[in-house]
Amino acid sequence: MSGPRVAIVGVILESNRRSPPAGEEDFRSLYWLEGDEIMEACRAESPFVALESSAFVKAMDATGPWEPVPILLAASHPAGPIEADLIDAFVARIGAGLEAAGPLDAVYISNHGGMTAMNGEDPDGEIIAATREAVGPDTPVVVTLDLHGNISERMVDDCDLIVGYRTNPHVDMVERGEEAAMSLRLILAGLAVPKSAFIRLPLTPASVALLTAEGPYADMIDYGQRRQAEMAGEILNVSLFGGFVFSDVSKNGVAIVVTARRNVAKARALAREIAERGWEDRARFRKRLMSIADAVAMALDRDRDPVIFSDSGDNPGGGGTGRTTAFLKALHEAGPQDVLYGSFYDKPLAEAAHAAGEGATISARFNSHSGGPDDLPFEVEAEVVGLHSGDVVGRVGSEQGRTLRLGPSAALRIGGITVVVISDRSQTRDPVFFEMFGLDIARAHTVVVKSRGHFRAGFLPWFPPERVFEIDTDGFTSPVLERFEWAGLPRPVYPLDEDTAWTAPSW
Ligand SMILES: [Zn+2]
Repeated sequence: MSGPRVAIVGVILESNRRSPPAGEEDFRSLYWLEGDEIMEACRAESPFVALESSAFVKAMDATGPWEPVPILLAASHPAGPIEADLIDAFVARIGAGLEAAGPLDAVYISNHGGMTAMNGEDPDGEIIAATREAVGPDTPVVVTLDLHGNISERMVDDCDLIVGYRTNPHVDMVERGEEAAMSLRLILAGLAVPKSAFIRLPLTPASVALLTAEGPYADMIDYGQRRQAEMAGEILNVSLFGGFVFSDVSKNGVAIVVTARRNVAKARALAREIAERGWEDRARFRKRLMSIADAVAMALDRDRDPVIFSDSGDNPGGGGTGRTTAFLKALHEAGPQDVLYGSFYDKPLAEAAHAAGEGATISARFNSHSGGPDDLPFEVEAEVVGLHSGDVVGRVGSEQGRTLRLGPSAALRIGGITVVVISDRSQTRDPVFFEMFGLDIARAHTVVVKSRGHFRAGFLPWFPPERVFEIDTDGFTSPVLERFEWAGLPRPVYPLDEDTAWTAPSW
C-alpha cells in the first residue's frame, strides 16, 4: 500500500467532577480497541465507535491511497475524572505506539476534549502533547473534538488543526470527521500550513443555554461560519467550544479556535471578532427551567398538544447517574395518563423484569442497589409490557446509524406511565429507546427523557422546540449552576459572577 502513513489514536471521555471516576470497566464496556480491530470498527456500516472516527477513516479511504496505522481508540460514557493509572497507561500506550510505528506522515486524534483526570485537569492536552513529543514538530497532527470540550493552550499549541462539532444536539459528527480528513489531505499536499489563534472567554453557560438552532451560541457559530465562508481562501476552520461546565476546572470557558491556512494574523483577527461579539451577548446565556410541580400539572392537562420533558438534572450524557427518582415519583403520585418515561438505568431491575417475563406483574424496585445522593429507592407494582436485548441501531438524530448496546432492557407499565429500563448508562436521545418495545411515541401525551439536549434532534419529528420543556430536577447535571459548590472554575466567571470582566488579547 502506498500513500501517507497516518496514525490513529483517541480517548473519549467527558468528565463531570461530581460523578464517580471513570475506570477501566467504563471504557471496556463502551469500547477499547487496539491495532487492526480499530479499522474494522471504523469501517463498519453502523459503527459503534464515535461517528467522527469512523467518518475520518471512510473519508481517507475515499480520497486516495493511505496507510492507516491504528494504535488505540477508547471511549467511555460521560463519567467522572479518569483514574490516574488509567490515563497514564493510555498516554504511555499512545506514545509507545507512535514511536514504534516507524516514519509517520500524520496523526489523527479522536478525543472529546472535556476529560479531566484524578491526577490532572488537562488529560486531553497531555495526549496531544505526548503525540507531538513522539512525532516531532514537522508531522501534522489533526484533532476532532466535541463542542463540549474544554480547551487549553497546550491542546491548541501541540497540534496543527482542531476540528470541533458545530451542532448541539450533535448531528454533524460525520461531516466533522470528513472535514478533518479533507483538511489533512490539503495539509499533506502543502496547500495549507495551519496556524491557529485561541481565545477563551470567562463564560461558562450551562449546556441548556448552548443550543445551536437558536440563541446566543447559535448566533456566534453562524457568524463564525459566515466569516469563514467570506475568507475561504484564508481560513481553514472556525471551531467554537461551548465547553462543559461540570468538569469544573480552570480551563473552563467558551473557547474560540480559528485556524488560518497560513497567516496567523488572519486567524487572530477573526478569533477576536467572534469573541467580542459573544462577550457582548453574554446576558443571553442565562436560561430558566420549569419546576417539577408545573411539569406535573402540565402532564395532567389533557387540553394541550403532546409535549416532551427533559429530566435535565440527571443526564447520563453529562455524567448523570440515569437513576434519579424524584420526577418519576412525582408523576406517579399525580397519576397522569399516556406518559412514556425513558430511560432508567437499572440493571438489577431490568434483569428482574426479564426473569419474570412479559405480561408478569412485579414489585418493581428502582434503585435496589446503592447510587448517588438523588438515586433514592422507589418501589411500585408494575406490569412487564416489553423485553429487549438492547442491541439497536440509532434511527434519528445524534446517534443515527450508530450501533447502541443498551443491555437487557424492559418496558414497565406503572398506571398511566410506561417506564423504559436499560442496562447501559446511556442518555435517551433516540426514538429507538421506546420503539424497540413497539411503543408509539405519536400516541403519547407526555414523553419524559433522561437527556439534556440531544433528544431534541431524535424526537424532533414529534416535538418541535416549542413543545420541549427542561425540568428543574436534581442530579449531577442540574443546569442551575448556582446550586453547586465549585472547586476549579476560573473566578470570576459569567454567569455565576455578574461582575466578570474580559478584554480581548492584544497579541
Ligand atoms: Zn457534547
